[in-house]
Amino acid sequence: MFADRMQRIGPSGTLVTKNLVEKLKAEGVNVISFALGEPDFTTPKHIVEAANSALEEGFTHYTSSYGIPELREAIAEKSRTENKIPCKTENVIVTPTKFGIFSSLLSLAQKGDEVILSDPGFVSYFQIINFTEAKIIGVELSEEDDFRLLSENVSEAITPKTKVIMLNSPNNPTGSVSTKEDLKGIADLAQDNDIYIISDEVYEKIIYDGTHHSIASFDGMFDRTVTLNGFSKSYAMTGWRLGWAIANEDIINAINRIQQHSLTCAVSFAQKAGVRALTGSQEPVKEMVKEFKARRDILVEGINAIPNLRCRVPQGAFYVFVKFVYDMSSVDFSKFLIKKANVAVTPGSAFGICGEGYIRLSYATSRKNITEGLKRIKETLSEL
Ligand code: GLU
Repeated sequence: MFADRMQRIGPSGTLVTKNLVEKLKAEGVNVISFALGEPDFTTPKHIVEAANSALEEGFTHYTSSYGIPELREAIAEKSRTENKIPCKTENVIVTPTKFGIFSSLLSLAQKGDEVILSDPGFVSYFQIINFTEAKIIGVELSEEDDFRLLSENVSEAITPKTKVIMLNSPNNPTGSVSTKEDLKGIADLAQDNDIYIISDEVYEKIIYDGTHHSIASFDGMFDRTVTLNGFSKSYAMTGWRLGWAIANEDIINAINRIQQHSLTCAVSFAQKAGVRALTGSQEPVKEMVKEFKARRDILVEGINAIPNLRCRVPQGAFYVFVKFVYDMSSVDFSKFLIKKANVAVTPGSAFGICGEGYIRLSYATSRKNITEGLKRIKETLSEL
């Protein structure tokens, strides 16, 4: 029935777990979920109001496939001032962030190419690279290096076929944050070997220790970098499906061709809300990050107090990547936790072969849930 290409795309480990949690909850099971990376906060009120006004004013039609000019301008302005990316409005396309991953990879990578990414790395990168028929080249991250992607390891993975290096700092699933020096090393490699960078910076605001740097701001890097970002995580806007890509105009036009024949454009009234998010008060973002930090500390301390589990202190995003020392695969261990403890986590192997032996816990959930979840895990594991 299916086209051959469907063999190259599998289900998403994160969304499969989310669906399972929803099913169990509907059946009346009291599940504590550390599964999905989705802020539990609702979108700040001033942003919602902007969408409401847009709807009431009849802003309910298609927009330009590139996005509305005021949002493209607001994104360009934010990226110039905050991220030091030397971009103009023409370098911006408004698109859901994950669709930006999809369309930028489809635009740049194909059969015969190699794409380097960190392993563990975000679930969808692997599937999308596979879908383009390019070869996945995973660079193992190690706990000792705080799961940072080191340029010396990237260097060893480069061949004449390397077309793209995917970056993701702060990182999903490990919470690691690249230093300026890490990125400088990778930027030099990209320039010396004529490689493109796709830099997914969707967690840029969710950072506790360290500073976010955009590789597109480094000398000579703008032209070879696609910077992806969005509203989902920073502004608690996951359901709005709104983000952006920034790149040279040729790449933006390629992404735009894919967008024109698929989404047409991002949701019109959501784009008005996006303008308000970027130009309005940033206080709610700071409040949310403060709360995430408090939750991180509770979770990290709690995990490390449970025998046979351990984790590092992540510097960003809202995930802890937890090593378990039981003789089980991460899928079986996750199944065990959901069945016996009613606690949902994502198996580390969803994030690449090097994620085996780990589970990912998202702390985008309340302190109460975190405390209860930890209690359940501890009690259940003590019976093993
Ligand atoms: N990015 C989030 C996660 O890793 C949401 C789900 C998804 O996009 O796969 O949980």
